[in-house]
Amino acid sequence: MKYGKSVGTNLEETLSNCLGEMKRKAPGAQNPRHTNRVVEVSSTAQRVGAVREPPSLAQAINQCFLSRRAFIRRAAAGTAIAAGAVNLAAASAQSVQTAQIVQDKAAAPLSAKEALKTEILVIGAGTAGLAAAVSAAQTGSQVVLIDKSETFTALGGDNAAIGSRLQKKLGIEIDREEIIQALMRWGGNKPDARLIRLWAAHCGSVMDWLLDMTEAAGVRTAIYFPTELDSNAALVDKWPDPTGFPAGWNYRNESPIEYPVTHRWNEGANQRALLGVLEKNALKLGVKIYYSTRAAQLLAGGRGRINGALAETEAGDYVQINAQKAVILCTGDYGSNPEMMRQYCPQAMELANSNANLKRALGVPFNTGDGHKMAMQMGAVMELAPHAPMAHMFHVMGTDAFLRVNKFGERYENEDVDTQSIANQCLQQGGYWVVFDEGWKDDVSKMGIGFRRIWRADAGIIKRFDSQVRSDRILKADTLAELAGKMKVPEETFRKTIERYNTLAADGKDIDFGKRADRLAAVNRPPFYAGWSDTPDFLAVMGGLIVNPRLQPLDDKGRVIAGLYLAGNTVGRRFANDYPVMLPGLSHSMAWTHGYLAGRYAAEESI
Ligand SMILES: Cc1cc2nc3c(=O)[nH]c(=O)nc-3n(C[C@H](O)[C@H](O)[C@H](O)COP(=O)(O)OP(=O)(O)OC[C@H]3O[C@@H](n4cnc5c(N)ncnc54)[C@H](O)[C@@H]3O)c2cc1C
Repeated sequence: MKYGKSVGTNLEETLSNCLGEMKRKAPGAQNPRHTNRVVEVSSTAQRVGAVREPPSLAQAINQCFLSRRAFIRRAAAGTAIAAGAVNLAAASAQSVQTAQIVQDKAAAPLSAKEALKTEILVIGAGTAGLAAAVSAAQTGSQVVLIDKSETFTALGGDNAAIGSRLQKKLGIEIDREEIIQALMRWGGNKPDARLIRLWAAHCGSVMDWLLDMTEAAGVRTAIYFPTELDSNAALVDKWPDPTGFPAGWNYRNESPIEYPVTHRWNEGANQRALLGVLEKNALKLGVKIYYSTRAAQLLAGGRGRINGALAETEAGDYVQINAQKAVILCTGDYGSNPEMMRQYCPQAMELANSNANLKRALGVPFNTGDGHKMAMQMGAVMELAPHAPMAHMFHVMGTDAFLRVNKFGERYENEDVDTQSIANQCLQQGGYWVVFDEGWKDDVSKMGIGFRRIWRADAGIIKRFDSQVRSDRILKADTLAELAGKMKVPEETFRKTIERYNTLAADGKDIDFGKRADRLAAVNRPPFYAGWSDTPDFLAVMGGLIVNPRLQPLDDKGRVIAGLYLAGNTVGRRFANDYPVMLPGLSHSMAWTHGYLAGRYAAEESI
């Protein structure tokens, strides 16, 4: 594809005021010349390479790419810090926090060597960005989608929805209002209820929109409770009594309650299957996708309206992408940015940077908060810290509510909690042992059906158990004294803890921590087992920028930053405290629901 021609036309249009200004000020300045060039096209995407532009054009862009308003805002951000002691009382907490992260980050003007023209620019090809690109392109708008990675980002595969056609077909009815109120409670009333309601109102129909595409592509979708091991996930084939579930089981009796909302593609946690379909649809609709292309700065035109971005190519050159209607920022979270983690999510800072295995295997090193920072440089404001981390914790028995003791051999909690809560208490205790006995294959059937619970000891679970015993991940001993020795916990304390726990189990009443009686699995049948855990899996941070209910960022005066929309983890005030796992797949769901809506809102902008 050649776009050199449109470069010339578009730059003339976009920069006409500024160039005119420059020409008036510098009569000798030359008209810009533009170089036609070819973009390398791969099967799924196009790459942008390097070209040379005349210096006069680069200078023009340098002077134009940030509006006066944006410069003033950036300067103000720096000033707020410089005068911190004096101004602190007057400044809102949000604007102080924003200023702290942006103050030294005011980007130096960059030189664009090339330009692209489009109506809508979507930055970030993850779950939110691909949904936004397809949604906007379906309206007939021209769309460019860029991502700094070599391909789109697909993680996990749980996707929550309320009221999808699949749920309706199965007869699953969930009270939206109940979910909204539960999410607000989980977040301690810190989320913006308007954003939660926006998601709740649309997630079912947007899931149907996804299903239109996945079904057409032959990708199967099913509803699951994502229990421990994908192969052992609890399929909801009918409702309210799915095949194989314990007789009389009712999700409302689970503790904690977990709703039947989780859609998965192609029989597994397989987000790639969904995003592959979205990418194909985007290309079919004419979306130009450029991978290995990093957005570096937003551009603003007259009256500070965002009208494009400067992006860095693989070759290290900058391309100006002019977006006549709007830019949609879908750059994910900032979990791979230690500085932002320290500032906005200090409680998970250690996790984000210590969990090397997870980062290597699964994490998103590309999510360095670029979108948050680019928007803040244009005046957007971060929601109050600390932000909610998504930190899951699974022990050798998944999340089952077996006895847990700390390194002193003491019991310390009601073990029947969700994965986030296990992570939270693990950090307080500095790690824990899960302790159980030979009866575990029967006991797991009492531990409930929920996120990463082992609900039946099938062949896959038994195989993994045996391999964990062989590798000493699970310690095995014929006596409790021997087990205590292997665990290196004080033997006397450990013995008393087990005796007390077994008494509570026999009494059927946990007067110490209030665990439900049916999950008090006594530890009295040798051999005995224990597995140590001390590092929760850090997955993402759910903190973002303050937006209005049309997903437009607001400045510190509450004014809309026109021409810019957000979706996915750049959107603030959706979560607080920690990530609510009562709706497994909520993060993806918010990403594609808000992505879809942002695509439509952006398309409604006039040129
Ligand atoms: C291992 C793992 C498993 C998970 N499983 C689940 C799950 O099953 N269900 C669930 O709901 N959530 C899950 N999550 C969380 C979920 O993946 C994220 O919250 C979600 O992807 C957020 O979507 P997003 O579109 O905002 O960002 P992402 O999907 O992370 O996409 C952001 C994209 O922006 C790109 N980008 C960043 N900066 C720039 C830039 N400057 N220029 C261009 N591109 C840029 C990145 O390369 C990336 O492709 C999981 C997370 C992890 C780490």
